[in-house]
Amino acid sequence: MSAGMALEARDLRRSFRTGFSLDVGTLSVAAGKTLALLGPSGSGKSTLLSLLGLLERPDAGTVLLDGAPVTARDRTARLAMAAVFQRPYLIKGTVATNVAYGLKLRGVAAAERDRRVQDTLARVGLANMAKRSVATLSGGEAQRVALARALVLAPRVLLLDEPLSSLDPLLKRRLTSEFASILRQEEMTVVWVTHDHDEAAMVADDVAIMNEGRIVCFGPMSQVMSLPDDDWTARFLGVEMPLSGRVLSSSDGMMSIGVGQIEIAAVGDMEPGSAVLVSIPPEDVILLAPDEVPFLSSARNRLDATVDSIDPRGATMRLTLQLGGAHIAATVSRTSFEEMGLAEGSRLGVLFKATAVRVRQA
Ligand code: ADP
Ligand code: MG
Repeated sequence: MSAGMALEARDLRRSFRTGFSLDVGTLSVAAGKTLALLGPSGSGKSTLLSLLGLLERPDAGTVLLDGAPVTARDRTARLAMAAVFQRPYLIKGTVATNVAYGLKLRGVAAAERDRRVQDTLARVGLANMAKRSVATLSGGEAQRVALARALVLAPRVLLLDEPLSSLDPLLKRRLTSEFASILRQEEMTVVWVTHDHDEAAMVADDVAIMNEGRIVCFGPMSQVMSLPDDDWTARFLGVEMPLSGRVLSSSDGMMSIGVGQIEIAAVGDMEPGSAVLVSIPPEDVILLAPDEVPFLSSARNRLDATVDSIDPRGATMRLTLQLGGAHIAATVSRTSFEEMGLAEGSRLGVLFKATAVRVRQA
């Protein structure tokens, strides 16, 4: 295991004759953190990743490792990095041969190699498969081998380009959470490219969202998901745009925020008069019958609402609710939805805690 290095990009540019151009002002990943590079297909994620990984040369700009500019000619820098791609690109032979390959190239002695290969296979859950021919592996197993092949090199920066995208949804979900927990035990710095925001949420500390060759949004995963900066990002993430409001009063760590004609209690101590963006995670919104007395008396926000629209999503229903001109989303199980007899236009009460409300400066 080796300590991660801070990875940074400054003014990176790369254009193709096809008309695409990448232009990334600054991007930084702190040592040991995981950044998700999230964006639709064609937004430039792979291009940026291969520039960060020194696999391609930028037209302009700099990549820095622990603050020092590096290029593809820097052998030490290249040796500090390893990558995993959507396709595993395995070589003919056994699992162990594949995992040992990079160590062999680096001149690591056989005994040391075997020890590190065994150790790494155990970490990725393939302890008993060293001797298996890679031709007999399932898609998920092949990706584990690809991850092992990268991890065995003890990289200080690990780059993953949609490592699980070719797997079926169920396996993909399981492996995402497994890979994420393997990576959390390591100290390396990780950049994980994906077009799937659920996957990004499972693996990342921070997220950079890309659109048309640019980073349009950057921040801690939970903040970007709950308070996206702009309409495009909100639509891409499938979340509601935050509400615009103003702090009305603030004392003892509690604020009252005016949003349209309603007032929302939130935790915080921003100056009265501050313009803010507010969001309430849909899963924190409790639905009540119009005159129901809430059992959860500690929840500070009890408001009247009308159902605006209903969007079935598997086992749950996603509702858009109208509260005095503002719109918020709520998620409810199908069972509760049916028990409450909800339909478009239904009137109901909503309840949410002040601690559930996300607020930031507009
Ligand atoms: P993503 O990984 O987000 O899907 P890419 O970085 O692969 O996006 O590609 C971004 C754009 O650049 C696409 O329009 C793609 O067709 C184009 N592109 C990528 N690589 C090359 C290349 N080597 N030559 C020409 N165009 C390229
Ligand atoms: Mg790509």
